[in-house]
Amino acid sequence: MINEMKALVKSEPREGLWLKTAPVPEIGPDDVLIRINKTGICGTDIHIWNWDAWAQKTVPVPLITGHEFSGEIVEMGRNVEGLSLGQRCSGEGHLIGKQSRQSRAGKFHLDPETRGIGVNEQGAFAQYLRLPAFNVVPLPDDISDDIGAILDPLGNAVHTALSFDLIGEDVLITGAGPIGIMAAAVARHAGARHVVITDINQDRLELATRVADVIPVNVTRDDLNDVKAQLGIMQGFDVGLEMSGNQVALDQMVEAMVMGGRIALLGIPPGKSPVDWSRIVFKAITLKGIYGREIFETWYKMIAMLQNGLDVSNILTHQFAAHDYTQGFATMKSGLSGKVLLDWNEI
Ligand code: NAD
Ligand code: ZN
Repeated sequence: MINEMKALVKSEPREGLWLKTAPVPEIGPDDVLIRINKTGICGTDIHIWNWDAWAQKTVPVPLITGHEFSGEIVEMGRNVEGLSLGQRCSGEGHLIGKQSRQSRAGKFHLDPETRGIGVNEQGAFAQYLRLPAFNVVPLPDDISDDIGAILDPLGNAVHTALSFDLIGEDVLITGAGPIGIMAAAVARHAGARHVVITDINQDRLELATRVADVIPVNVTRDDLNDVKAQLGIMQGFDVGLEMSGNQVALDQMVEAMVMGGRIALLGIPPGKSPVDWSRIVFKAITLKGIYGREIFETWYKMIAMLQNGLDVSNILTHQFAAHDYTQGFATMKSGLSGKVLLDWNEI
């Protein structure tokens, strides 16, 4: 086994990420070592690259970044059972504690001690990743390494979209970023009647229509009320998925909802933002915050849906060799992409 690897590291507290040589992680008795094949670049990685206020208070330096990955198990700790060397896998990047009431009740995604790989702990933008065996999700043969590398954000989309019953419902998604678009595909797959997706970026809306059977609305020039009327939505949307983190989008969503509508909030506003609470109260709206994925129910459902016709492959718009990571990040930052992958076999 080699003992050095290449990794994309936040090695200095300033803008950028740097390809460095790092020791291959040592695994403990309950861990596995994963040789990374593909990784996805996430909005979170862009925050870390930019070294914005959130990143400065959250991310320790030095840190190997990245949390969206697929790979193969190459080493296993002595306590690991039920996995095998050579197993293709992805994995849950939220590392949880086992002591909290929520964890002990099996609600692992609600554990307050959660720490993220590539954010608080050493991450996946590297040739090798150490991961607790508990977090490993084996990949069935019919799920590619490329799709395996985006199961983390697809999981965000699935967790959000499946928060409320969608069958026969009219669904509004604000924000046609990669996660909003994938949520639209999930809502369609799950049996929604109409799925409307809004954005201010026309390229993203066009991408949405290449991934899923959705109605795109550019809110800089189209009126959501007209769209509602054209679709015969009498009162308002039944279910809202907020996936932009933008306050204007949330206001618009609340306005467009039916009385008693249900809204799942995934988008993260940059700071505190004003909300018209009386509107939410008088519309009797239910709000649900979404963090991460349900461990491991979201993973189970997501893989089952992918094996049963859910197709998000068109969200993968770019792929670069890992050593061309600067191009990958520039593409992601341009807003003209879907998901951007890095290939760690080319380093
Ligand atoms: P993204 O930034 O790529 O997409 C957001 C989209 O919203 C962009 O296309 C942007 O143009 C659009 N937008 C901006 N203003 C808008 C408006 N007024 N109306 C409609 N759309 C508007 O992000 P993403 O990677 O798809 O992630 C979606 C959101 O989810 C982000 O806010 C991200 O931070 C958040 N997120 C949350 C979790 C969680 O666990 N809660 C996990 C991952 C991502
Ligand atoms: Zn991510």
